[in-house]
Amino acid sequence: MADAGDLNLSLTPLAVVVTTPAYSGLGPALTYVHDRPLEPGTLVRVPLGKRELLGLVWEAPGLSLEGLEPGQARAVLQVFDAIPPLNAAWRGLASFAARYYQRSLGEVALAALPPQLRDLQVEQLARKLKRLAKAAAGSPKTQGRQFNQAADSEPVMPESWSVGDTKAGPELSPEQAIALERFQTADRPALLFGTTGSGKTEIYLRAVQELLEQDPQAQALIMVPEINLTPQLEARFMERFARWGVVSLHSGLTPAQRLDHWLAAHQGRARIVLGTRMAIFASLPQLRLIVVDEEHDPSYKSQEGARYSARDLAVYRAKRENQGRAPGHCRVLLGSATPSLESWRAAEIGRYLKLEMPQRIGGGALPRLRLVNMNHQPKQCVLAPALLESIAERAARGEQSMLLLNRRGYAPVLACHACGWKSDCPHCSAHAVFHKIDRTLRCHHCGYSSRVPYACPGCGNLDIAPVGRGTEQLEEQLVGLLAHARRADGEPIRVLRLDADSTRAKGSLEQQLAGMHEGEFDVLVGTQMIAKGHDFRRITLVASVNADGGLFASDYRAPERLFALLLQAAGRAGRDAEFVAAQDTAVELWVQTWYPEHPLFVALAQHDYPAFATQQLEEREAALMPPYSFQALVRAEARTQEAAQALLNLAAQAGEPLPGREHLTLYPAVPMAIQRVANVERAQMLIESDSRPALQAFLAAWQEQLQLARSQPEAKGVLRWAIDVDPLAI
Ligand code: ADP
Ligand code: ZN
Ligand code: ZN
Repeated sequence: MADAGDLNLSLTPLAVVVTTPAYSGLGPALTYVHDRPLEPGTLVRVPLGKRELLGLVWEAPGLSLEGLEPGQARAVLQVFDAIPPLNAAWRGLASFAARYYQRSLGEVALAALPPQLRDLQVEQLARKLKRLAKAAAGSPKTQGRQFNQAADSEPVMPESWSVGDTKAGPELSPEQAIALERFQTADRPALLFGTTGSGKTEIYLRAVQELLEQDPQAQALIMVPEINLTPQLEARFMERFARWGVVSLHSGLTPAQRLDHWLAAHQGRARIVLGTRMAIFASLPQLRLIVVDEEHDPSYKSQEGARYSARDLAVYRAKRENQGRAPGHCRVLLGSATPSLESWRAAEIGRYLKLEMPQRIGGGALPRLRLVNMNHQPKQCVLAPALLESIAERAARGEQSMLLLNRRGYAPVLACHACGWKSDCPHCSAHAVFHKIDRTLRCHHCGYSSRVPYACPGCGNLDIAPVGRGTEQLEEQLVGLLAHARRADGEPIRVLRLDADSTRAKGSLEQQLAGMHEGEFDVLVGTQMIAKGHDFRRITLVASVNADGGLFASDYRAPERLFALLLQAAGRAGRDAEFVAAQDTAVELWVQTWYPEHPLFVALAQHDYPAFATQQLEEREAALMPPYSFQALVRAEARTQEAAQALLNLAAQAGEPLPGREHLTLYPAVPMAIQRVANVERAQMLIESDSRPALQAFLAAWQEQLQLARSQPEAKGVLRWAIDVDPLAI
């Protein structure tokens, strides 16, 4: 290690990006010195204050030591030269994301690396790499599996694996063949608009296969909303592509696994990365294909730190990879049966290439919609008698049903009818949810939990009662209502509940799903997690028990989300055309509603997403809402609601002279929908513009004003503020 003292002249100055707190005044990169130049993208360890940090060498044309006191720029401590630098395209992605989402480069770039890298010394990494290389050399054909073993365990190989074999898939349907061919020659992002069960996954698999066979170096990135919810998809990729090395990247991995998988992708040993939104930042030096499955899914938008949209970054990343190359070098494929309105519009105006697959594989019919008018049902009825009967009949024939209710727990609130007491969370402006299973009241916002009181805390009344219904209660009631019915083997009907509570234990979700696939259960009850992606073969009825919340929510995206959810859920039914034909059964989507005339249901009955999208887009255009305008939301958290709002309003005043301001509308600060969480008051301000550049320019300049406003007396007690660009929920 060089002493920076008198040697300044023989030392090279380097710009190094580290995780610095925002507004530390330290700027995007710090200056260090080293005894030789280092390429941008090189990982290093540097001192900062008394600490030692992971850093990334960044480009800084014209950086010099002039003007610095001798010894002022400290020396780089260690250089990770056993791994290649992060390439220019990756750095371009990180700096774009930082700029666009209004965060510091250090925060975005360093958060995009596996956390374990931060604590690793150079020798430790070198040892790890040696171990990984040895393991890979020992079993070259089985990398994929092996990376997905726990980091230090020996790879286990199933006997049946034909080593080195890429399992070929089924022959493509004519629709699939056309879609794939058009995609392979696309010169722009492609939107695969394919109905549920139309074989979109097969298109992804084939696109990956063709690319990897044709280019021995190429890498592919496959993004999925929530990997643990769709173990089937992961299994399909693992099985098909074992020989090419498949690794996953998601939050369920141990830190050691995450680092191993990241390294495999970074070094090119893994050719395929399958992951959730965080995988958009994986280092893939030979990236040539990005697939975003279920591209409309809200989980692609991060809700913390840099609030990036992994789907939008995927489109940017492909474009960046193509800089200076042919436009089709790196392709991006967004797939959905219910695309986001943003992507739909992009396809309508030709910015994206639209690929359509309206038919189900095997020619299976889409479920017929049966609206249940709740105004005409017996009083207090949970499930319409006709629906119950249909479920029972199906179970008797060996078919399965699925019931969707978007609320977990037993009841959303406990109440006393004598004095009006409600089970409110003491720390949030929200009810604590009643969970009967362990007789607790739990707040789903802050985690607060308490025993259910024996009597009403307000008046001593012993008769406190649950109000409303959650999945736990629906399961209980369903078992009671179906007590008389029998399954095909004469046994009582079996109900399975799947939600965040029932699947908390590791592996339990997969186990329960396997039970469903094997026909162990007749009815599946759950939250939206059961609607996503699963390839159930024996479900012929899907029912939404209470969907009306989505019809009249204040959030203008609620109808879009409801439509997508119902169509997704419906897509779990009748996926096996042969089974349906053999059963001679009707595949149905039942929706219980108090508003059967609502236009959303009319479009749903036709499975007509384009009509629904057109109608929604017309409304959005008339109201100048996204995608016809651009939004950002600034949120402030404080000890008091007044302070949170004052910060936003003061900053808005101070922002008057800033660039872009004349193209913006700043709305007054308002409390957030759930105003208080964990004793913190929350307020937000919406900013709207018809010009994205104006919005971007303003936000970049405005951050300083927001920070300055914190020191005003009115904003005393402000804890933090954050900007959310292209917010999903308002
Ligand atoms: P999607 O992702 O569009 O919902 P999938 O890709 O899961 O649809 O396909 C639905 C089912 O059809 C799966 O069981 C899949 O294995 C099967 N499948 C897909 N393509 C074909 C094909 N060309 N021939 C036969 N079966 C297919
Ligand atoms: Zn009471
Ligand atoms: Zn709470």
